[in-house]
Amino acid sequence: MVNFKEIGLVNTREMFAKAIKGGYAIPAFNFNNMEQLQAIVKASAETKSPVILQVSKGARNYANATLLRYLAEGAVEYAKELGWAKPQIVLHLDHGDSYELCKDCVDMGFSSVMIDGSSLPYEENIALTKKVVEYAHKYDVTVEAELGVLAGVEDEVQSEESHYTKPEEVIDFATRTGCDSLAISIGTSHGAYKFKPEQCTRDPKTGRLVPPPLAFDVLDAVMEKLPGFPIVLHGSSSVPQEYVDIINANGGKLPDAVGIPEEQLRLAAKSAVCKINIDSDSRLAFTAAVRQTLANKPAEFDPRKYCGPARDLMEELYRNKIVNVLGSNGKAE
Ligand SMILES: [Zn+2]
Repeated sequence: MVNFKEIGLVNTREMFAKAIKGGYAIPAFNFNNMEQLQAIVKASAETKSPVILQVSKGARNYANATLLRYLAEGAVEYAKELGWAKPQIVLHLDHGDSYELCKDCVDMGFSSVMIDGSSLPYEENIALTKKVVEYAHKYDVTVEAELGVLAGVEDEVQSEESHYTKPEEVIDFATRTGCDSLAISIGTSHGAYKFKPEQCTRDPKTGRLVPPPLAFDVLDAVMEKLPGFPIVLHGSSSVPQEYVDIINANGGKLPDAVGIPEEQLRLAAKSAVCKINIDSDSRLAFTAAVRQTLANKPAEFDPRKYCGPARDLMEELYRNKIVNVLGSNGKAE
């Protein structure tokens, strides 16, 4: 058993309170390999942005749970080496699906866990979330819960259609579970195909899909019920079309991939939304750089020669999110 404080991590409590007051959001970037982590830490350290390193159950299975946890410990030291004297780094479990998994992460030094009971009946979601909160809070680990269902695919989490969060449930849920933050469903979605073409309109000039707007009325109603309570948005990649184009021009096949416009996320970041999850965009950046490099240099077989450019492109993406979308730069000097 190791407590997160021993390895230099922080939980989300103070970070979220500051973000809500300051009208910005904390980036929550998923990682499952070294290049991604290097890019996240470099972009955060250089912009002095607080950051949440997210690990999903799938990532733990892919990279090995022990290795991931030491990578996160290494991230803190690497951040200091880069000149970030007091790194504000959270290690967070994304979409924990059981009490046991959440407990295991708390015991391994995570500073924050998500228990996702959103697919369960309401009372079961409350009971499971409460149980996780009771364990996690003993070690000062913060807990994210979820109400409402997002559409899309993310590792083991899959849902055909979304159900917006019901604002009339949030006070009861937050009070009875004691959770520290709440992921809500207002029209964001997991994956690189967030909307079906029939849900979108098409820009007549570019032929590109234009997604439907987020349900800001639901967000407003939630904020009215729970003033100042930290709200989380999942599935908030923008699916940059320049990456999709590079992938498609170099042997890939991602027709009609579509995400959440950054303009809408900028608006959300100014509200009580204080954590915005971004995963697919970094996968797209990685794949775009690898495909382009290998297409241009077919004789290349040193992984460093194509993972290096992938790392650079991800770093550029993370910096853009921090500075131009979430506004978290300079908030962790
Ligand atoms: Zn999610």
